[in-house]
Amino acid sequence: MAPALQTRLLQADEAGIAEAADLLRRGALVSFPTETVYGLGGDAGNDLAVAGIYEAKGRPRFNPLIAHVPDLAGVERIAVLTDEARTLAEAFWPGPLTLVLEARPEAGMSALVSAGLSTVAVRVPAHPVAQRLLRAVDRPIVAPSANPSGRISPTTAAHVMAGLSGRIAAVLDGGPCGVGVESTIVGFAPRPTVPRPVVLRPGGLSVEDIEAALGAPLATRDEGARITAPGQLASHYAPDAPVRLGAETARPGERLLGFGDVEADWNLSPRGDLVEAAANLFRMMHEMDRDGTAPIAVSPIPDEGLGRAINDRLRRAAAPR
Ligand code: AMP
Ligand code: MG
Repeated sequence: MAPALQTRLLQADEAGIAEAADLLRRGALVSFPTETVYGLGGDAGNDLAVAGIYEAKGRPRFNPLIAHVPDLAGVERIAVLTDEARTLAEAFWPGPLTLVLEARPEAGMSALVSAGLSTVAVRVPAHPVAQRLLRAVDRPIVAPSANPSGRISPTTAAHVMAGLSGRIAAVLDGGPCGVGVESTIVGFAPRPTVPRPVVLRPGGLSVEDIEAALGAPLATRDEGARITAPGQLASHYAPDAPVRLGAETARPGERLLGFGDVEADWNLSPRGDLVEAAANLFRMMHEMDRDGTAPIAVSPIPDEGLGRAINDRLRRAAAPR
């Protein structure tokens, strides 16, 4: 656990927003208001900042996070919009709609944002403070709800303080949130020719409004089944090579994904820091995948703090397929 921070309460005026933007650009975590709930923001391109979000929330799993940008141009820098996605974007952004889109690998997002998937969830929030902050930061910001894992989503700065004080750099106080419900998440179910939109999570925008904008029904749950359980889908991400956990040393022919003071082909954190290890996890798994198919041995990782989320993911990677 990181040493306690002095969490600052910033007013959502020009100076406060500039300060919040500066903190985010330096990799610190800042909570800010959106029209749904208060988000816990971190720079989506900074592995350590994204890992820090999991640490601050005490999340036991690496679910993919939603990247927030101020406008469609920002979306297009990180993801590919299909025609139907563009129709929804033009109808409902800015607003409480999240689209899961094919990610642009060259966009420089942390691999932890997509938790190993090739897609990225993106939203353009409407809240004026969120808008001003995102424009000031000028880079995508991931922001799950700003509460400790398993607790109620915060709709005021005081809620955020009660849950996360000492664990994050600042809270930008923009008053109470209007919607108070999470964003509706729409993904695209693969079909033989065109993908069709499907609701992955109901939220602040109704299915009826989405269908009216499309002029067509959404894909059925069956058609969307492959992606309706995003957590599960993410869990299927695993290197092609077999994975052996809890390895003190690599056996002949194995490659070692190390942790701590060991000689390894890749090392999650030579100094044994769990936040650094989380920050490196998905990128290194991808790199090992690209490197070849020799079996992978993984050093033991302490099952505490972020180590639990790391071990959860490694166990799935090592599970028989
Ligand atoms: P939260 O972190 O609470 O804001 O929730 C984010 C939601 O978005 C979770 O339900 C995630 O599973 C979902 N999500 C984020 N990225 C993706 C993705 N690439 N594919 C499918 N679902 C996603
Ligand atoms: Mg939440």
